[in-house]
Amino acid sequence: MKTITTIHDMQSTVRMEKQTGKSIGFVPTMGYLHEGHMSLLQKAREMNDIVVLSIFVNPLQFGPGEDLETYPRDLIHDEQAAENSGADYLFYPTIHEMYGDEPSVTAVVKKRVNCLCGRNRIGHFDGVATVLTKLFNIIQPDRAYFGLKDAQQVAVVDGLIHDFNFPIELVPVSTVREEDGLAKSSRNVYLLQDERVRARELYQALLKAEEAIDSGERDPEIILRTVSNHIISETGADIDYVEVLAYPELKPVKKLEGKIIIALAVKFQKARLIDNMIVTIKDREHQSAFEQTGKEA
Ligand code: AMP
Repeated sequence: MKTITTIHDMQSTVRMEKQTGKSIGFVPTMGYLHEGHMSLLQKAREMNDIVVLSIFVNPLQFGPGEDLETYPRDLIHDEQAAENSGADYLFYPTIHEMYGDEPSVTAVVKKRVNCLCGRNRIGHFDGVATVLTKLFNIIQPDRAYFGLKDAQQVAVVDGLIHDFNFPIELVPVSTVREEDGLAKSSRNVYLLQDERVRARELYQALLKAEEAIDSGERDPEIILRTVSNHIISETGADIDYVEVLAYPELKPVKKLEGKIIIALAVKFQKARLIDNMIVTIKDREHQSAFEQTGKEA
C-alpha cells in the first residue's frame, strides 16, 4: 500500500490507474481504524480493482466545543490495518493541502438535515458534503462505501451524489458491533469503564423496539418511548435524541410503514454515541386482507 499526501500525486495516480481501465472503490474515513472501517475496505476490495482509503479529520464538520483537537489518531496503526485489509492507496492530506488558507466555496445541504444529528450539529453535514465533493473530485471513484452506523450521513451522501451528478455508486455497509452489541466507533475510547459496560444497553434498546414492531406495534410514539425509557433506566446517559423517521427521506411518520429508522444519540461524560436500526415494515393488516381475498397466488 502506498501513502499519498498531496492532491497532485493522488490525481496523477488516479489518472494512471484509470488509463488501464481499472475500477476504483473509495472508503473515506477520519482514521483510528477499527473493524467497522475494515468491513467497508473489505467490501471495496471485493467489488473493485483498486481500493483507495482516505484519512482526514475534517475541521469543517466539527462544531465549536466538539472534539476536533482531541479526536483519536494513530497513523502507524492505521497504515498497517489498511494494508492488511487490502487497500492499495491511503490518501492522507493535511488540512492546508485540502483547504489552503480558507475555503472559498463550500456546500450547503438542504434536505435530510433538520433532524437527528443535523439538528444540534449545525453545519456538520455541510462540512461533510464539502469534503466529500473535494474527495470525489480528486479520487473519482466508481463506488464509495459508507457505514450505516452513520445512517443520516448515508442519506445525505445519497442526495449529494444525485444532485451534483457524481457518477458514483453509493454502497451502504451494515454496522459492525462489539460482542455485546455496542456499535464500533473511534469515539468508544472516550468511555469510562462503567460507561462502557452500560453502553451495551443502547443496542438492547433498539432490539426492544424491533421486538415491539415484530409483535405488531405500529405507533412511532410508543417505539420512541420504549427506546427512551430503556436508555434512561439502563444507561444513565443523557439523551440527545431518539427519533423514528422514514428512511432515507428522514421525514416524520404517523404510523410505521415501509422503511423506517429508529435512531438515537446519547451523551456520556466524554463520549457522544450514536446508533440506529433500519427496519422494513411489512404491512400485516394489508397482507392478511389480501390473503383473505384468495385471489392472488
Ligand atoms: P469515521 O472515521 O467515523 O468518519 O467513519 C468512516 C466510515 O466508517 C463512515 O462511513 C462510517 O459510517 C463507517 N463506520 C464507522 N463505524 C462503523 C461501524 N461500526 N460499522 C460500519 N461502518 C462504520
